[in-house]
Amino acid sequence: MRLKLFINIIAFVLITIFLLWALQLFLLDSFYFQSTKARMSDAAQRITRLEKGHLGDFSEQIYSIALINEFCISVFGRDGRLLTEADAGGGCMIHNINDASLTELYRLASNNGGEYFHRVNMRDFQSSIKNNHKFNYKIRDRILYVSITETEHGPMILFFDAATTPVSIIKAVLTLQLVFTTIVLTILSALLANVIAKNISQPIADVNRAAKKLTHGEYDVVFTGEGYREIYELSETLNQTAEDLKRTEQLKKDLIANISHDLRTPLTLITGYCEMMRDIDGEKTPENMQVVIDEASRMSSLVSDLIDLSKYESGAVKLERESVDLDFLIIETVERYRKLMSDKGYTFEYASVGPTYVECDRKRILQVIYNLLNNAVNYGGEDKKVTVRLTSGENGRKRVEIIDNGAGIAKEDLPYIFDRYYKVDKEHKRELSGTGIGLSIVKNILETHGAVYGVQSEVGVGSRFYFEL
Ligand code: ADP
Repeated sequence: MRLKLFINIIAFVLITIFLLWALQLFLLDSFYFQSTKARMSDAAQRITRLEKGHLGDFSEQIYSIALINEFCISVFGRDGRLLTEADAGGGCMIHNINDASLTELYRLASNNGGEYFHRVNMRDFQSSIKNNHKFNYKIRDRILYVSITETEHGPMILFFDAATTPVSIIKAVLTLQLVFTTIVLTILSALLANVIAKNISQPIADVNRAAKKLTHGEYDVVFTGEGYREIYELSETLNQTAEDLKRTEQLKKDLIANISHDLRTPLTLITGYCEMMRDIDGEKTPENMQVVIDEASRMSSLVSDLIDLSKYESGAVKLERESVDLDFLIIETVERYRKLMSDKGYTFEYASVGPTYVECDRKRILQVIYNLLNNAVNYGGEDKKVTVRLTSGENGRKRVEIIDNGAGIAKEDLPYIFDRYYKVDKEHKRELSGTGIGLSIVKNILETHGAVYGVQSEVGVGSRFYFEL
């Protein structure tokens, strides 16, 4: 990654340098040519507007135009008579070529609507010598311009000639500058590319190293990716994942211990009672048989909880939605609980609100209410009072609340309470019959329904579990 980044940055800088060279050097010629052409046209127009009057003045003005622009200028009158000429810079081509060549230039201009530009470079010059000897003066890199204009004194023929030498000087200076820029830029970019590549790849390499440890089960690994928001966020996510994996691992271990315990105890009881009923006369009583039946059903409900959970988690459960009267469902369930628990002193409060229909899977929602009621009984308070409420939630939803006045749940446990195998009290108490999967089943059912759900709880005050359909 570091090498790739390095190569890409260097490639980018080299392309930039190449473009710089191309723009500065290769296009400079044509830019210069265009601007000289424009200056020549301008000068021609100014000369046309000059008052010829006194020839001396006229010559002086032509000379000053030539000087300012570094042009050579020849002005011919109507009859082909040379009116004046000015030479700014020397080595002028139009002042040194023969009349035939000047006449040829004039002919080309008049055929071209009164204006003719010609760029003379070495190649042109050589071919012109070979072909027709038009320009027999050995000079190169010049721009010639012929303009035939009408003035109030009749037609006037202007010859301009300028060297392209400045371009060569500029080119030489630019080339020097570019060589310097190229060397400095290449060195700087190599250093910078190295630093950038290192800065970017280092935190990724760190995260990668830590992730490898995680795959080997080292859940205590800490991801410390810094420097970039994305890498920082990735590290945070991976830290969270490591923590989750660690917790799940621990919860699984606890679950296996709890389940083994929960299965072994009834099995021991069942075996013991059966042996007793087989060996001792008079022990085959309905009470003893009931113990065997109770223990067997406790095991069976534990196993079916586990099967349910694995079904929900694999997504194999298909909801059978129908229109269900939540009010009636709660009345039925609460009534059943009242009968079951009345001898233990529990009271269940529910104030019916009349038929309240929602679309849901009746059996599954019944299981949710059942699990929440079960927890309210198991973890409820001394007052042995459980309250159920049905109200209107947000966006037309119906809200069911199951409230107890028990010990409540500590703030630090609240985020995990719906996780599978999570138990606040790590000491396994058989009488509370929990394996830490009841709320996980609740969560799975409610999430498949797209329901809103949660818990509000305060230690020492009680808990309020709710869901909205
Ligand atoms: P369990 O089978 O252990 O009851 P649950 O998934 O139903 O498992 O609950 C997970 C844990 O949440 C319980 O072990 C208990 O500590 C806590 N809990 C659940 N309901 C209540 C409640 N109403 N009051 C206090 N704690 C609760």
